[in-house]
Parts: sequence; C-alpha cells; structure tokens
Amino acid sequence: MSTKNASAPLQEATVIVGAGRRAEWTGPVVNPPVWRASTHLYENTAALAQGPRVNEDGRFFYGRRGAPTQWALADALTTLEPGAAGTVLYPSGVAAITGVMLTLLRPGDVLLITDNAYDPSRSMGTGLLTDFGVETRFFDPLDLDGYAAAFCERTRAVLIEAPGSLSMEVADVPALARIAREKGAISVLDNTWASPLGFAGLQRGVDIVLMALTKHVGGHSDLMMGSASAGPELHAKLRERAQQLGNIVSPDDAALALRGLRTLHLRLAQETQSALAVARWLSTRPEVAQVLCPMLPGAPGHDIWKRDFTGGCGLFSFVFRGGDAAARNRFIDALKLFGIGYSWGGFESLAIPIEPSRHRSVMPWPPSALRPEDRHGVRLAIGLEDPVDLIADLEQALGEWRRE
Ligand SMILES: *Cc1c(COP(=O)(O)O)cnc(C)c1O
Repeated sequence: MSTKNASAPLQEATVIVGAGRRAEWTGPVVNPPVWRASTHLYENTAALAQGPRVNEDGRFFYGRRGAPTQWALADALTTLEPGAAGTVLYPSGVAAITGVMLTLLRPGDVLLITDNAYDPSRSMGTGLLTDFGVETRFFDPLDLDGYAAAFCERTRAVLIEAPGSLSMEVADVPALARIAREKGAISVLDNTWASPLGFAGLQRGVDIVLMALTKHVGGHSDLMMGSASAGPELHAKLRERAQQLGNIVSPDDAALALRGLRTLHLRLAQETQSALAVARWLSTRPEVAQVLCPMLPGAPGHDIWKRDFTGGCGLFSFVFRGGDAAARNRFIDALKLFGIGYSWGGFESLAIPIEPSRHRSVMPWPPSALRPEDRHGVRLAIGLEDPVDLIADLEQALGEWRRE
C-alpha cells in the first residue's frame, strides 16, 4: 500500500482512491503532475554513471523507463492486482498482448490460444508469431480434456480470455491455469472484461494478467493503453523486454488513465446493474433466441461466473431468433442512443454486429443449444445512460428488425 499505514486491510473503494499516490515521487499534490520527460538531468558524471544500474520505477534514467506519472499508474494497478509484484504499461492493449508473448516465446515454441479470444490476439498468433517461428494452436476453453490433450513438450504458454470475445462463454480459468502449470507452461489471462475488481487472476493461479486499459480503466473513450501484471520473476522479464521493444506510454495518457481508475469501481457497478436490466428485458423478447450475458441467471456461463467472479461490466451479446444479417443491421442502424463502433468500457453505450463463426476454428457457432438459423448477433456495451432509455431505444429498433 502506498497510502498512510492503516491497521485493518482497506476496502477496495478506499484502496482505489489512494493507489499509486507516493509523496516521494510526486510531492504533496493529489494527482501526479504530467511529467513530460525524455531527458532526466543528473547532478554530475558520477550520478550519471549510477543511473542505469538500478532499473526500477522510481529511479530516473531516461524517458523510456518512465517518470512519476507512468510509475504512479503502474503502481496503482499493481496495488489493485493481488499477488502482483509489478505492472508494465504498453501503448495499447494489443501491444500488451504482443509484448507479453514476445517475452515468453522463442522460435519452435507452441502457444495455445482460446478459440473465442479477441480477434487481434488470434491474428497475432497466425501472423506475427508464425513469422517468428512460433506455432499457435486454438483450443475450446470449455473442453478441459481436449485442452489438456492439446499440450506437447514444446507448449510454452497459454493465452486465456474469459468471458470470450463476442460470444461471452465463461471458461474455468483456475482449472485452465492449473493444468498449464502442471504441463510446465505459463498462463496469460486477458482480463480486460472483468478487471482485477471482477476477477483476481494472479490469485486464482494465472501467471500473467493483462488488460486493455483503453476500455474500462480509461473509461472515457479518449486513450489507448495496455498493462501486464505479474509476480517478481515474470514482471522483471516483461519489463526488460518492453524496454527492448521501446514500449512507453505518454505521461498525458497515463494521467488520464489514472483519473479513470479512480472511478472504475463506481462505473463497473453501475454498468453491471444497467446491463443486467437490459439483458433481463432482452431475454423476455420473442425476437431474441439467447442473451449471452454471464451475469444473467440462466445464461450460458452464469454458474462459473458466479463461482469465480466478484463483479461484471456492461459488455454482453445477444442472438436474434432467426432473421438475417440485413435485419440485424437494420436494428443496429435504427438505434439512437447506441453508437456504432469498436471498443467499449467508455461512459457511452455502443452496439456492433457480431458473426463469431468468422473468428474461430474449433468451437461451433451457433453453439449447439441454438438452432442453426439463430446465428446473427449483436454485442452491446452498456454505458452510463439510464437503462430505461436504453430499453426504450432497443424496443423501437426491434420494430425495424421485424420489418420486411
Ligand atoms: C480491445 C481489447 C484489446 C485490445 O486493446 P487495444 O487497446 O484496443 O489495443 C485486447 N483484449 C480485449 C479483450 C479487448 O477487448
């Protein structure tokens, strides 16, 4: 903890307020100033010679190793991730994913990726990593036996995402991480959906937890950033490789991310509540075949979500009962309060069409619980608008879906 000593362990909301505030870095101000720095000046040549020796946050060296604004954000994220020794920041979520993989993998290694992972993670496997001599194999995270059988002696790492991108299946992350460890592989969790407030990844056995801070932590759709947190050994390796790759985030963006972080718990709680109201309403509609929202009782993955997660967020999907892609697109175009666009985790609601079959190679789509014609989906990111208004907007747009 970086705040003043307190006798009892503090509640999460209290920790978020104080996380990353260090007087020795930033003086007496509440928010760390935006330190724009490439060059750090040294007292003399002896101090200059000392500079590079200790490579850690809090030691000025050169802009590529950051300054108090970035250190404060990394420190805050470390504080929020139980079991983390440190956090490395990256200029985007994708940079965090590739930065982690370029730390762990060597030519000849095999990487396992959940089949329902974020599409750019899949492209990293089939593109960048293939070019560097790493073999990527996709697996169904709901089939633990198939997963265990997919390991070979060259399997070095596993990239897990739960809930899955677009289709929202909830994998048994503690089991996936435990099996990886038994097989001698390193498990990496893309925890962008839940954040450490909803799922404490390292505590649940994962080796490295990463996030697209672009989403919930930024929270205002105005910055791109990623992070990876780990225990001491892996953190040191991630840090070294990130510096070799030249990964650094701007102090302006770090200050924005830190500002977003202070209200993360409030926004997530509100989004979760609103998303549940919208999901519940959608599940009563005849136009909807299935709501893919792990927080919703009865929805796919709800039991594991309830067992493992301590929170949710506003992101979920649903699938139309029959219809075609044109009707689905008419529905989205008719929405007035939902923006049409990528990303999520901002204060504003968004909607995009989803066709998961285009982004998977092992898992069936639609899933076996649905009829083959129930396949055209929508992903909603519920923001901070009143859910009463969002539901009314969805209702009028369903009229467009039903039109010829
Ligand atoms: C958006 C996203 C990313 C990538 O983040 P960027 O900052 O857009 O590069 C990674 N993982 C998940 C699950 C995401 O939704």
